Amino acid sequence: MRTGYDLELVHLTKRYGDTVAVHDINHVFAPASYVCLLGPSGCGKSSTLRMIAGHESVSEGSILLDGTDVSGLSPAQRGTAMMFQNYALFPHLSVRDNVAFSQRMKGVDKATRHKKADEMLDLVQMSSFGDRLPAQLSGGQQQRVALARALITQPKVLLLDEPLSALDPFLRIQMRVELKRIQRELGIIFIHVTHGQDEALALADEVVVMNNAVIEQSGPPREVWGAPKTEFVARFMGGHNVISLNGHKVALRADEISLGEAGLPATVVAVEYQGATVALSARTEAGEEVFAVLPEDAFFKAPKSPGETVSLAWDEGRVHRLQA
Ligand code: ADP
Ligand code: MG
Repeated sequence: MRTGYDLELVHLTKRYGDTVAVHDINHVFAPASYVCLLGPSGCGKSSTLRMIAGHESVSEGSILLDGTDVSGLSPAQRGTAMMFQNYALFPHLSVRDNVAFSQRMKGVDKATRHKKADEMLDLVQMSSFGDRLPAQLSGGQQQRVALARALITQPKVLLLDEPLSALDPFLRIQMRVELKRIQRELGIIFIHVTHGQDEALALADEVVVMNNAVIEQSGPPREVWGAPKTEFVARFMGGHNVISLNGHKVALRADEISLGEAGLPATVVAVEYQGATVALSARTEAGEEVFAVLPEDAFFKAPKSPGETVSLAWDEGRVHRLQA
């Protein structure tokens, strides 16, 4: 099977009446990449995903899959598949028949479609559950079935809208390992919508940060987290201070601040022990609150309490100037 399809969004816009949900976005999704579309609620993630899937019409622009504009095609024709958040399994059909459903609609004979369904159930590690009904499965298992059902169409791109949000924290981490394994095994593009930056960092080859209907920044997770271009990205990704230094707005990682002899004077506001690290916040003379994440051993060599004065120090090279 040939993999290596890319997906390109060209001047893509979505309007609902007067609301511009997606505003003229351009992006190339690399072949075989796991991409997380990340951003706060209402920024246009689902609208983007639904346009790619064909569940929502495009207001302007185009969607090129492997070089071909698919924006006028039906969901089933375009080579994409979507896994829905609520799984949407048929309650009266067995797991195997749920997975085989699209094949049945295509007129594939029973033996062939059951064989394909069993292969998919094997891929999602649900091969012993084929005869059960959806109601006899846990939430996490239902989700694997929904995944198998989406993958049986052999999509070039799998679209997942907040796929882990209904799972408890333990299952969420287990499932995210599974999603990544399956994506690697199939070698197709996964586009995974999430509003959780930790989820995006853990999974993605590329993080695409959206805000207010546009893409603010995209790149490998370490690049987006480590070198945010805008105040929004710095704050949304977390772990950074956004402060004014010498008349510029800059981002400075909380874990790159130390308590030195010389540095920016500040008064400790709060100290939180976190195990391996200690989180300290301090107010500068200019009235800005700065967060520092300090290694536990370094902090306890010279512990500080609220009200004490400290000097905040950092390596100048680690300061990132933000776009105005
Ligand atoms: P996200 O998935 O990032 O939370 P959405 O793409 O669902 O964002 O929504 C983006 C914007 O479009 C929001 O302002 C939302 O209210 C609006 N919107 C989404 N779907 C519809 C719709 N069917 N009709 C009208 N407005 C919509
Ligand atoms: Mg959404």
